[in-house]
Amino acid sequence: MIRLENIQRRYRSDEVETTALHDIDLIVEAGEFVAVMGPSGCGKSTLLNTLGTVDRPTGGRYLFGDRDLARLDEAALARFRADTLGFVFQSFNLIDELTIEENVALGLAYRRDGSGQRRERVAAAMDRVGIAHRARHYPHQLSGGQQQRAAIARAIVGDPKLILADEPTGNLDTENGAQVMNILAGLNEGGATIVMVTHSPSHADMAKRRIDMLDGRIVASAARAI
Ligand code: ADP
Ligand code: ADP
Repeated sequence: MIRLENIQRRYRSDEVETTALHDIDLIVEAGEFVAVMGPSGCGKSTLLNTLGTVDRPTGGRYLFGDRDLARLDEAALARFRADTLGFVFQSFNLIDELTIEENVALGLAYRRDGSGQRRERVAAAMDRVGIAHRARHYPHQLSGGQQQRAAIARAIVGDPKLILADEPTGNLDTENGAQVMNILAGLNEGGATIVMVTHSPSHADMAKRRIDMLDGRIVASAARAI
């Protein structure tokens, strides 16, 4: 589904050049669940943001299916993200002024669904993560675990081909983290492809494959022993 070839990302600021990604080659097949690990600053977020097309590589090719994403302009990339990707962040990123169901509906903002279909999708996504009873609440009225589940509902409401999760359990206690991991594992069982950055070895073990990064390079890739 995804092929990164020789991806490179350099940052330059005040004469200082940082290479966040060196010649990354990575294939992610449809249906995979990949955990990305490595020390702080090794390039995990840059890799995830590259996959999410919110960060442009300074070299290399990113193929999604048979599309070369480097050839798309910003408008086409925005469309691609809206149709194809779901993002989950460490800090949830819900909008405080909107209710949970309004937040979840944001995941359909670029869709042309009719209002009935939209309501059905939002309800189904909230059900899937066990947050339907909080539909009319605002984010600050929910626990962290509930907020992250709402954020997952927003990510999946449009039925994305690829879910990108950047430390989705990083702000959660053990129990809520486990709940979020079970939801992600269930989505993967249901066919979603997931790439997740995590610092938790036990959460990485729930993925089907783990890749380790160091200094902007992938230094190991191993399928989970079953
Ligand atoms: P990780 O997610 O593994 O902590 P990042 O991908 O955030 O790592 O960062 C990788 C490297 O790129 C780090 O050295 C970081 O300082 C650098 N970096 C990330 N974003 C920027 C930026 N916007 N400008 C300059 N350097 C950056
Ligand atoms: P549930 O088991 O219903 O999914 P939790 O056990 O996480 O939810 O939390 C119980 C209730 O306590 C939540 O429904 C929420 O309204 C409230 N709550 C928990 N943590 C917070 C918080 N940090 N701020 C506000 N309300 C909270």
